[in-house]
Amino acid sequence: MNTDGSRHSWERDTPDYWRAKMVAEQLRTRNIRDERVLAAFARVPRHLFCPDASMSEAYADHPVEIGCGQTISQPYMVAWMLEVARLHSGDRVLEIGTGSGYQAALLAQLVVQVFSVERIPELLNAARERLARLGAENVTLHCGDGSGGWREHAPFDVIIYAAAAPEVPQQVRGQLAIGGRLLAPVGSLHHQNLLRVERMAEGTYREQELGGCAFVPLRGMFGWKD
Ligand code: SAM
Repeated sequence: MNTDGSRHSWERDTPDYWRAKMVAEQLRTRNIRDERVLAAFARVPRHLFCPDASMSEAYADHPVEIGCGQTISQPYMVAWMLEVARLHSGDRVLEIGTGSGYQAALLAQLVVQVFSVERIPELLNAARERLARLGAENVTLHCGDGSGGWREHAPFDVIIYAAAAPEVPQQVRGQLAIGGRLLAPVGSLHHQNLLRVERMAEGTYREQELGGCAFVPLRGMFGWKD
């Protein structure tokens, strides 16, 4: 620390410094309040989920390219979804769109079991290696079309879409446990609303639109056509 309270340049060159700054300036100031979510963001090394070409942007306040035309979402967007999902440590969670594996790594810190599906094999293989290196043993990955969920492992306490969907089909809603929460960006290809669907009872769902967002498209049977 300098005498005026600012940091030496060498102190600013560590991922730990940039990660703490991201949590303080991008998440806390925007009302992310769940301390477990904030602690997971402070722990998971986001830079290790970025390819070399975009690693310098890992802690920036925007999405980061991960190849194959895909991105890791902006840190705030990921945190917002995790906060409004109201995660409990005993939850079983399905993520649709593994991408880099970053959100799966955060979830692995927060819940007991994570299932994640990615349709692009190169991305899934890279995510698998990163998660193994970090010792995230409670994440089960699958390569394929996740737009219809993952019926084999249902029911889930939480389902998170990491890509924008035209709608949430009954096939996926039905994979929620009673009391379960589903978060999905739903709308057009270029702009969506974050939708939370709660399964209140066997055939009863409550829906809330939580605010605007913009995600890459969900492809596949229940997604947008290529
Ligand atoms: N959660 C990711 C992370 O932490 O890096 C970011 C996900 S990225 C915004 C959206 C991902 O959804 C892309 O990797 C894309 O290939 C994937 N995707 C799109 N349609 C899909 C589908 N039908 N099934 C599985 N994954 C899909």
